[in-house]
Amino acid sequence: MAITYELIKTCKQTGARLGKVHTPHGSFETPMFMPVGTLATVKTMSPEELERMGAQIILSNTYHLWLRPGEDIIEEAGGLHKFMNWNGSILTDSGGFQVFSLSDLRKIEEEGVHFRNHISGEKLFLSPEKAMHIQNSLGPDIMMAFDECPPYPAEHKYMKDSVERTSRWAERCLEAHQRPHDQGLFGIIQGGEYEDLRRQSARDLTSLDFPGYAIGGLSVGEPKDVMNRVLEFTTPLMPDQKPRYLMGVGSPDSLIDGSIRGIDMFDCVLPTRIARNGTLMTSEGRLVVRNAKYARDFRPIDENCDCHTCRNYSRAYIRHLVKANETFGFRLTTYHNLYFLLNLMRQVREAIREDRLGDFREEFFEMYGFNKPNAKNF
Ligand SMILES: [Zn+2]
Repeated sequence: MAITYELIKTCKQTGARLGKVHTPHGSFETPMFMPVGTLATVKTMSPEELERMGAQIILSNTYHLWLRPGEDIIEEAGGLHKFMNWNGSILTDSGGFQVFSLSDLRKIEEEGVHFRNHISGEKLFLSPEKAMHIQNSLGPDIMMAFDECPPYPAEHKYMKDSVERTSRWAERCLEAHQRPHDQGLFGIIQGGEYEDLRRQSARDLTSLDFPGYAIGGLSVGEPKDVMNRVLEFTTPLMPDQKPRYLMGVGSPDSLIDGSIRGIDMFDCVLPTRIARNGTLMTSEGRLVVRNAKYARDFRPIDENCDCHTCRNYSRAYIRHLVKANETFGFRLTTYHNLYFLLNLMRQVREAIREDRLGDFREEFFEMYGFNKPNAKNF
């Protein structure tokens, strides 16, 4: 098996899992946050910087790499790791989410999805077999099954048809996967907010024995309490001895609340996207560095952070760079936000080890300001 999971312990206070995922490009500790490198680059960061900040696995997007530069070029380069010079683990998604979110003109058939390229308008077709072929060429350690990503909210009837199609597609993905010895394929549990459908999806997919499972279709606009409720009834349906990945979630509160509900892996563009807008995550909450009040503020972004940005640069300087659209400013804010989340997950793992993740959650939410009635969220 290309991917294996080792459960180290569960937190006595919360039930969160401390573990390790072993991949052909090394092991990473869980719960873990995965920075997103859409086009084979985490925007503005070098692989050396990612390694220095403690990233152990990154995510890249099949859809975007298929269109640019094309999976054949990446395969010729020796695969994604060599192409981008990243020696840690890589996970790629299946392209499904982008097909459903970026393209307005699409037609879903049993065979696959017809849609238009979001850049050129060219007609394209993606199917379970095609998504496997592309990911086999890209060569990530973990690849994702091609699924349908229904909108939120969706009617029960629509969702049921979609879940059943996703299960049939998952079987086709397993059949088409050419490299199970060195690439682990994860199944994706769908079903929206409906408990019976999540149950059905989990039953279908776990019967296929994937080396890992993801929960898809969350963080698509539903309130946080809906997400937490869905996690509460879905994670117990997932095998204990396999990694569990919650797709598209990366706000600090959701990383903690997801870990408490038994999730091991997370990814999201949020920290990198808001960084390029000058918004920072700090131990005392959200900081918008463009604000005038930071013009003469020579303190670091976060006085409790020991990242490269916070050890060397001031709010005033970063504000100036961001306002002047200087690339270096975006590099500094991106570095800090990614470091902040990777460090948060380190603290979460430490708290699980010491059976105090519930207490850690309380302290973090208090300090971050999530407990305030008008707390600004992401
Ligand atoms: Zn920092």
